[in-house]
Amino acid sequence: MRGELVVIGNEPHGNYNRILLSQVLSGEKVFADTVLNDADWYAEHGIALLAGRKAVAINRARHRVVTGDGNLLPYDRPVLATGAKPLLPTLPGTPLKGIVTFCAVADVDTMLERAALPFHRSACRTLAFKNDGAVVLSAQ
Ligand SMILES: Cc1cc2nc3c(=O)[nH]c(=O)nc-3n(C[C@H](O)[C@H](O)[C@H](O)COP(=O)(O)OP(=O)(O)OC[C@H]3O[C@@H](n4cnc5c(N)ncnc54)[C@H](O)[C@@H]3O)c2cc1C
Repeated sequence: MRGELVVIGNEPHGNYNRILLSQVLSGEKVFADTVLNDADWYAEHGIALLAGRKAVAINRARHRVVTGDGNLLPYDRPVLATGAKPLLPTLPGTPLKGIVTFCAVADVDTMLERAALPFHRSACRTLAFKNDGAVVLSAQ
């Protein structure tokens, strides 16, 4: 394919393997182990990575993507690859602080921060995962 490629991503880095995030959470891996393509790869392949930028609108008449910081980026062919947004089930308690969804490395950081916070008098050591109807408790 010929042409300029621009990737807009609202996470502050390039692509990474989300499947390995559980191992980052457990401490078996660090985020760097999950990175699929680093900044050099994007540069070597002539791909402009606009990380940490959210696309907030597409102006189809003018062929522009509007980013959250107010920029208008021209395009010929837009590709929407926004993944999925996790939904919290409508259960009592889900709006409480400490209930997080698990989709991005930022969620791992949030869970690790919360696990380090004092919970009553002892540190929180239990994480409960709800996935596809199964609830898994992981405790140390
Ligand atoms: C912990 C975990 C374990 C998993 N395990 C497996 C597994 O074993 N097997 C399997 O098949 N799948 C697994 N998955 C799912 C798999 O990772 C996803 O299906 C896959 O990442 C989807 O890829 P994608 O490119 O479609 O979207 P994503 O990887 O979600 O990428 C989409 C990107 O677009 C960004 N974005 C969204 N909206 C905007 C916007 N408006 N502007 C700018 N950027 C935006 C998002 O922030 C994200 O960075 C797992 C996921 C997680 C979180």
